[in-house]
Amino acid sequence: MKPALFGKTLTELTATAVELGLPKFTGKQLADWLYQKEISSIAEMSNLSKQARAALEEHYCFGLHAPANAQESVDGTKKYLFKTHTEKFIETAMIPFQERRTVCVSSQVGCKMGCLFCMTGKQGFQGQLSAGDIVNQIRSIPEFHDVTNIVYMGMGEPFDNLDEVLKSIDILTSEWGFAMSPRRITVSSIGITPGLVRFLHESEAHVAISLHTPFHEERQQLMPVQIAYPIEEVVDVLKTWDFRGQRRISFEYIVFHGLNDTPRHVNALSRLLAGIPCRLNLIRFHAIPGTPLPATNEESLQVFKDALNNKGLLTTIRASRGQDIFAACGLLSTKALAGELAAPRPRPIV
Ligand code: SF4
Repeated sequence: MKPALFGKTLTELTATAVELGLPKFTGKQLADWLYQKEISSIAEMSNLSKQARAALEEHYCFGLHAPANAQESVDGTKKYLFKTHTEKFIETAMIPFQERRTVCVSSQVGCKMGCLFCMTGKQGFQGQLSAGDIVNQIRSIPEFHDVTNIVYMGMGEPFDNLDEVLKSIDILTSEWGFAMSPRRITVSSIGITPGLVRFLHESEAHVAISLHTPFHEERQQLMPVQIAYPIEEVVDVLKTWDFRGQRRISFEYIVFHGLNDTPRHVNALSRLLAGIPCRLNLIRFHAIPGTPLPATNEESLQVFKDALNNKGLLTTIRASRGQDIFAACGLLSTKALAGELAAPRPRPIV
């Protein structure tokens, strides 16, 4: 299969043009066609000479891929399934909420991190996504024009594929790319310290850290990453960064009833996060197949939230979206991998 043009940065497109013997400025023309005009083939690049298009066609494909399947929740959340060039599947969720249209993208095929509560973790790691694969999840959905926010919270650990994640953000935010504000992008990580440090320096997007418990032993059981990169170390890095400006840091906290929502957790969380201007987002845990962790209930969730707020931690409960289609848990792609979904094939989704 030919390599894709979609997903290359302006610098890479310029290098590609020069390699093919085309003028240097063709790089900028290519970026315009790929990211600012709505075409889907090299043949449509009408300001390039016939010879230039032929040279490009010979070595490259355009690189856009329509979703192979989709499910829609009763609340309007949609989950798209994309097939990768290695015949694997990744998921993308589009979450409408009031005026917002948030797209939740995947950054890897499967995941190495093995978090106990995660369906994607159960698939294991099956490969990295390219920057083009990541941006395609936004560009190739029917809601592309209405997208207001992007979160890297789908399948995979973004800091385990950081080169491509940073490149995708470059394409989304550069003037020659989609020219989005980095303040509309949030990258969520379980906290891989070296990746976090690099990300803080090389991007202006918001950061969300999956916390889930402040205690070492418990976190090790829920999230094996705690062994290599303890949350205390992650928090120490964050404390060296100034988040009082426009860049935001938040922590994600999936609540398992009776397991990580006790007064002991409230006290430890308030000690751990003291001094970081952040928000703590509580997420309801809904049972997923094959996972014995206890689902939360509304009353104890509210009590936990109030106790955290009383300790001075700005805490909110995230609205559950797309629960009936297991949005963003990896189930759709797991089924596709297992062959339970009728061989996914492109179909119009409106
Ligand atoms: S929660 Fe995130 S990091 Fe953990 S296994 Fe799932 S996809 Fe990977």
